[in-house]
Amino acid sequence: MTEKHEIQNLIEMIHKRYAQQQDGEVATYIPQLSKANPEHFGIAILSTNGQIFECGDTGHLFTIQSISKPLTYGMALETFGEEAVFKKINVEPSGDKFNSIELEPDTNRPFNPMVNAGAITASAMLFDKYGKNAIDFILEKFSLAAGRSLEIDKEVYWSEFTTGHRNRAIAYLLLNFNVISDYVEQILEVYFAQCSILVNCHDLACIAATIANLGENPITKKEVFGIDAIKSMMSVMYVCGMYDNTGNWVNDVGIPAKSGVSGGLLGIVNRQMGIATYSPKLDEKGNSCRGISAYKDLSRELGLHAFDCMNAGSSFLTTMLK
Ligand code: GLU
Repeated sequence: MTEKHEIQNLIEMIHKRYAQQQDGEVATYIPQLSKANPEHFGIAILSTNGQIFECGDTGHLFTIQSISKPLTYGMALETFGEEAVFKKINVEPSGDKFNSIELEPDTNRPFNPMVNAGAITASAMLFDKYGKNAIDFILEKFSLAAGRSLEIDKEVYWSEFTTGHRNRAIAYLLLNFNVISDYVEQILEVYFAQCSILVNCHDLACIAATIANLGENPITKKEVFGIDAIKSMMSVMYVCGMYDNTGNWVNDVGIPAKSGVSGGLLGIVNRQMGIATYSPKLDEKGNSCRGISAYKDLSRELGLHAFDCMNAGSSFLTTMLK
C-alpha cells in the first residue's frame, strides 16, 4: 500500500479534530437554507499542479451564496475594465454588515463588491451588458472555474426571490443614486440566481485553485480569468472577504478568502493551492465555525499566512507538493 500524502493526513486529522465542534447556528433568514444538515463537514484542497486532497462531505451540494461575489466582480472587471467598475464600486472595507442598506457617504458607491450593495451593482453591470443571458454567462464562467457543468437550485432561488426584501431595499437605494438601472427586479433575478448556483466542496477547491493558478483551471487547463482580474479579486477578498471579521481572519489565517451563508469557505494560497471547507453552522458574523477552525490549523501547520516566516516564497509548500 502506498503511503498517504502528508497533506491528506493533515486534513484528515483536522477534520477529525473539529467534526464534533458544535458552535454556531445554521442560517435561517433564507428559509431553504435552514434545511441544511448541521453535521455536514468537508475539507478539500487542490494544488495548482493538480493534486487533490479531500476529506468528509466534499461531494454534498450547497448553494454558493456570497462566494459568487468575487467571481461576478471579476467578470464585471473583465467586461468593463477596472476604471469603469471602480467608478461604481469602491474597494474599502465597510466595517458594517454585508447586507447593510447603505452606500459610501460622499460618492454614493457601494463600499466594496463583497457586500450585497456592491455585488448587486456588479450583477447589474452584467445585466446591462448581457440582458437575459447574464445568468447563463455567469453559470458558464463558474462552471469553467469548477471544471464541470453547474446548475441553479431553483427552490433556493425562489426562496430568496420571494423573501429577499432587504436586498430589494438595497437595490432601490442603488437605483435612487443612479448606480444601477431601473430594471431592478431583473437585476435581482441575476443576483439571486448567482447566489443559488449549486456547488460542492470539491468544486469550490477547484474554483479557488483556478484563482490561485493565475486564472487557469489546473485540471482542465482552460483560462477562466485574466491575471488583472485575478489580482483585483484576491485583493478585495483579502480585505473584505470574511464579512466584518476580515481583520481577525487576516491576522489568524492570512490568505484571501470568501465565505457564504450556506457554510462554504473558499481560500486561496496564491500560486500554490485552492482550499475549500463546507460546514453550515455559522458564527455571529456569518462565517462557518468549523471552517474557520480548520483554516486556522491549516494555515499554522502549512505556514500559509502571507507573512508567516515559513512562507518565504512558499518554498516549504512548493517542496511538499512536488
Ligand atoms: N443571497 C444571500 C443574500 O444576499 C447571500 C448572502 C451571503 O452568503 O452572504 O442575502
